[in-house]
Amino acid sequence: MTANRPGDLSWDRGGEPGIRSEAPGVGSRAFSDGGGALAVAVDIGGTKIAAGLVDAAGRLTGERRTPTPAADGGEAIMAAVLDCVRPLLALGGDRVVACGIATAGVVDAGGRISSATDLLTGWAGTDVRSIAGHALGLPVAVVNDCHAAGTAEARLGAARGARTALVVAVGTGIGGALVTGGTTYPGPTGTAGALGHLPAPASALVAGRKCSCGATDHIEAHASGPAIERTYHELTGRELTGDRLDLAAIAALARSGDPRATQVITTAATLLGRTLAGAANLLDPDVIVIAGGVSRLGPLLLDPLRLAYRADALPGPRRAPIHPAALTDQAGLIGAGLTALPPPS
Ligand SMILES: [Zn+2]
Repeated sequence: MTANRPGDLSWDRGGEPGIRSEAPGVGSRAFSDGGGALAVAVDIGGTKIAAGLVDAAGRLTGERRTPTPAADGGEAIMAAVLDCVRPLLALGGDRVVACGIATAGVVDAGGRISSATDLLTGWAGTDVRSIAGHALGLPVAVVNDCHAAGTAEARLGAARGARTALVVAVGTGIGGALVTGGTTYPGPTGTAGALGHLPAPASALVAGRKCSCGATDHIEAHASGPAIERTYHELTGRELTGDRLDLAAIAALARSGDPRATQVITTAATLLGRTLAGAANLLDPDVIVIAGGVSRLGPLLLDPLRLAYRADALPGPRRAPIHPAALTDQAGLIGAGLTALPPPS
């Protein structure tokens, strides 16, 4: 791991990997006539690949899923993507004009994976745009999954109507997107918005932790889902569910008044709130959106996060509202499709 790693959202999205089709008409040419352009959209996570058809208004149809062959290398992952996508080409017919692929990992300007989460073996270096473009005969846009989710939240979700938004995904890792005018700014190397790799404020409870990127004491190492679980374990020595500490169990303890569970979540929320305030002081967004599995902690996370944010934010960005995400687990898929289609005029 040599570069900033946006948070892999697969941890966030819950549900078991498995093949699922929500489109009874898959395989027909039901969408061939009439209507506007469609993109075949794909979202590649650590456990599952989701695909569907997305129109310019962000409507998603024909969603289907397949497990990610995460240990089998880039070639096998791309083969699974193409297998998942092909029935959608038949479904969308002539209306399909592009393909948008959201993926865990950092995506360079040429649509290649320049670095990837350890969950996807051999994914780094895969030329996703070229492989998919040749196989499908379509123009292909490849985008980091947090960046895709940011675009979707800005066009349709909790940041709709905002000129600038900071969208933060807190899950296995912490990723983010800086969205302006409905489009996520990727930066020249695809790294922009990597909030998880901002240095965290000092905290005796979680000091000295190695981040997934190799540096020490980045906020991802202090406030991601696994980081919160680790802090609880270090503080109490308790294992909640066999070998694995479970964030939901820690949240349940906090809601029932357990002071150490509350302390652990409040510490993570406070550190994240202060980090977001620093980012907002730099960028002055209209709105901040918190996505990802950890955001499901609700007020347990968001109340102390907002308190810490307001204490460190300058008067201008202090006014920016902090909303939970609106689109849940389909944001990456919808954002991938929107990225591939021309923006509505
Ligand atoms: Zn880091």
